[in-house]
Amino acid sequence: MTRSTNTFDTLELKNVGRSFGGQNALVDLNLRVRAGEFIALLGPSGCGKSTALNCLAGLLPLTHGEILIDGKRIDVLPSEKRDFGMVFQNYALFPHLSVEKNIAFGLQMRNLPKAEVTRRVADGLALVKLQDQAKKRPGQLSGGQQQRVAIARAVVLEPRLVLMDEPLSNLDAKLRLEMRTEIRRLHQSLGLTTIYVTHDQEEALSLADRLVVLREGRVQQIGTPEQLHNNPTNWHVADFMGYRNIVDLEVESVVGDLARVTGRGISIMATLAQTAAVGDTVRVAIRPSDLVVTGPDTPSGRDAIQATVNVVEYQGREFAVEVTTTEGQNLYVHAYTALLPGSTVRLAVDPSRALVYRSSLDGVAAPRELSAVR
Ligand code: ADP
Ligand code: MG
Repeated sequence: MTRSTNTFDTLELKNVGRSFGGQNALVDLNLRVRAGEFIALLGPSGCGKSTALNCLAGLLPLTHGEILIDGKRIDVLPSEKRDFGMVFQNYALFPHLSVEKNIAFGLQMRNLPKAEVTRRVADGLALVKLQDQAKKRPGQLSGGQQQRVAIARAVVLEPRLVLMDEPLSNLDAKLRLEMRTEIRRLHQSLGLTTIYVTHDQEEALSLADRLVVLREGRVQQIGTPEQLHNNPTNWHVADFMGYRNIVDLEVESVVGDLARVTGRGISIMATLAQTAAVGDTVRVAIRPSDLVVTGPDTPSGRDAIQATVNVVEYQGREFAVEVTTTEGQNLYVHAYTALLPGSTVRLAVDPSRALVYRSSLDGVAAPRELSAVR
């Protein structure tokens, strides 16, 4: 299959909002997408991801804002005139049609010549490696195969935008990983602009050029995987980005970008990701992999957290360990040796890897979108 020629330069969402019976599901979504980009909308269940996607698709009218392609309003167009491809979590295949007929359906609806339909269906089948399954019905295929049919059905239309709503969440872990690679490969070879909804941060980080993190219908942060991974803008994004230890501590002192934060059996130096003053209660975020076990024999410096090992879980390359500080705070740590439940450990964290955030998310303005230009 050739790269789609049916494209655009920029897709722009301006203050896009949608409410249901006065309840806001999506508020002021601003986003500029450049042709060929892979964007992930990420956030917990109910945060407005599907609402955003359905507004784009034309399945839901907007209550606020505009959607433009190269400066022209498209939110006023009916769904079928937008020329987008959709892939849903539940595949939404026609159960009574064979695989090839499912893929051909949209092409036939467009009254393409028969030879063109045949060619594109064959290309689509090859693309998702289902040539051998062409005559089967969806019910005779595995979940992963069915989702590949759904993807082929969307991309054979050579849409100018592909919208995917949690396409992998009905698959088991192994298939999910395989399909993730498949989707990335397809994106690279076809260059289709894609907006992909997921609640899985790993999936979003591995697939997307840029991520949009949503919470309660509002954008929290937009950025590249690296930006979000290393510099979450508030504790909610940090939480979503795998900073599993989120602990409420008090600021004891501040020097430049660094603060000493204490409480719950912890006293460490940490980096101010948001401003805070001495005496403030703050939320400190640390990834399990950034808490280093220094062993019980090392001197108990002020920055060492003393804790007792509770649960040790073998995870192949490392051990996921839950410990409890002397004041009852649970922490999650990655260790490279099997720690003994009940034993005492000391933990250290590099101050640059412990991030200090304000506890409140209220009034945190959505950060200005970073440029779409790479
Ligand atoms: P997500 O896809 O992130 O899980 P949704 O976009 O489906 O979230 O939903 C966002 C919010 O809007 C939720 O509170 C949900 O209950 C509400 N919502 C979504 N669709 C409808 C609808 N058709 N009618 C009423 N409320 C809805
Ligand atoms: Mg959803």
